[in-house]
Amino acid sequence: MSASPVAFGAPKSPADRKRKPARGSAAPRPRPALAGLALLAAGAGLGATLAVTITSEPASQLSARGGLLTYAGSLTGMIGTYLALIMVLLVSRIPFVERVAGQDGLLRLHRAIAPWPISLLAAHALFLTLGYAETARAGAWHEAGILLTRYPDVLTATLGLALMGLIGIISVRAVRRRLRRETWWLIHLWMYLALAISFAHVIVLGPAFVGHPLTRVVWSVAWAATAGLVLCYRFGLPAARSLRHRLTVAEVRAEGPGVVSVICTGRRLDRLAVSGGQFFCWRFLTRGMWWQAHPYSLSALPQPPYLRLTVKAVGDHSAGLASIRPGTRIAIEGPYGAFTRYAQRRPRALLVAAGIGVTALRSLLEDLPRGSAPVVLLRASQPADLVLSTEVRELVKHRRGTIHELVGSREEAAIDETSLPRLVPDLAQRDVYVCGPEGFVASIVDTARKLGIPDEVIHHEAFAL
Ligand SMILES: Cc1cc2nc3c(=O)[nH]c(=O)nc-3n(C[C@H](O)[C@H](O)[C@H](O)COP(=O)(O)OP(=O)(O)OC[C@H]3O[C@@H](n4cnc5c(N)ncnc54)[C@H](O)[C@@H]3O)c2cc1C
Repeated sequence: MSASPVAFGAPKSPADRKRKPARGSAAPRPRPALAGLALLAAGAGLGATLAVTITSEPASQLSARGGLLTYAGSLTGMIGTYLALIMVLLVSRIPFVERVAGQDGLLRLHRAIAPWPISLLAAHALFLTLGYAETARAGAWHEAGILLTRYPDVLTATLGLALMGLIGIISVRAVRRRLRRETWWLIHLWMYLALAISFAHVIVLGPAFVGHPLTRVVWSVAWAATAGLVLCYRFGLPAARSLRHRLTVAEVRAEGPGVVSVICTGRRLDRLAVSGGQFFCWRFLTRGMWWQAHPYSLSALPQPPYLRLTVKAVGDHSAGLASIRPGTRIAIEGPYGAFTRYAQRRPRALLVAAGIGVTALRSLLEDLPRGSAPVVLLRASQPADLVLSTEVRELVKHRRGTIHELVGSREEAAIDETSLPRLVPDLAQRDVYVCGPEGFVASIVDTARKLGIPDEVIHHEAFAL
């Protein structure tokens, strides 16, 4: 454990000890109105896509032989492609959207929409093949052969659809569970290729584009802008931030059974805009690790020139951090997450964490103003699992708050509809922040809802994406 329970970082020189630790700058405030506008624009885009598709074909087409099927093919194709664009935007980490919805919120939306574009695009291929076959009075397989060999870009688009189908299958929870996360993630990246190779056939053959130069330009700009946003926020910004702050590992410190803190040092961390409760995706540039980025919350606010994350070993990457060498360079993506003080709506806050979930709670707590009188519930099976608890107690004391450490089995130390009002009598005046393993977070959210706490004052960060 570090000398002072509140401060952290590499062992301090006498001169350091005298200096008041500087704090990094806070992340910009979330702007729900702006995110709301983005949602509105997405809805308007869907409406415009529908309108353009419906008006691009003459009504007489519907009564023509094969006309209805072909029309359905165009409609499913355009809507499916538009939703695929939205899917990409949801995971392109656009900061003002991410700050409001959080990465987990955007991923939940991404997963909820996912079956639609893939199913609609499969229907698009089927309807068009059947429609053209009916028009040509030919067999469906024969017509499929014609489409693949004689229509420009249809073969590549079909490969794109096959890739999307594969990614759809491996993303089904039952299948995904059987894959290593890295394997799933690497295959998932192929979605960008699938979309890129499918783009051409849309503007070359689509009835909404053939003979409609304006629609073609607008659609191409929309896709180019989306590609630009992905390059900018998934690659450009992380690279620029990593180069600016040049983080390296300064020290690895044991915190408890299977838990270590990694203290990093870097430049200009006073300019790193991050709020307590947020996380980064960390890429440790060393053998066996450089190709994977994993999310870990900050376990304290930045203390320039130091940053700290605290990690519990649950698999190869998290376990590997215990033996990472000082001097190892680190690339960061982020900060991400809406689990911050900005989300608070009520005068007071209740912070609940289980096990390693204490990391996000501890940095969020440090960001709460003095005198904010937070209530903190720390849940652990064993006393030794209450890592960072000395620091948490100190921070709670400085904020005139209350802390309950609930140690034991789920039955012995339950946080449920009976114990929660007893532990937190003024629950109705508090926002509820909960962090930790997925199952724990879900159970606390469920309990809070059953106790009448509205969703807008329940904030959660589950340590699984
Ligand atoms: C927002 C957020 C903040 C987190 N903060 C912390 C923290 O402060 N301290 C801490 O110890 N853990 C934290 N985690 C959990 C941590 O990311 C995983 O434990 C770690 O990535 C596991 O990787 P692994 O290779 O060691 O284990 P694996 O065996 O690969 O995976 C173990 C579990 O972790 C999940 N996981 C693996 N890789 C990732 C990934 N890249 N992204 C998301 N989930 C993954 C898997 O779904 C699996 O359920 C956080 C997770 C999230 C989503």
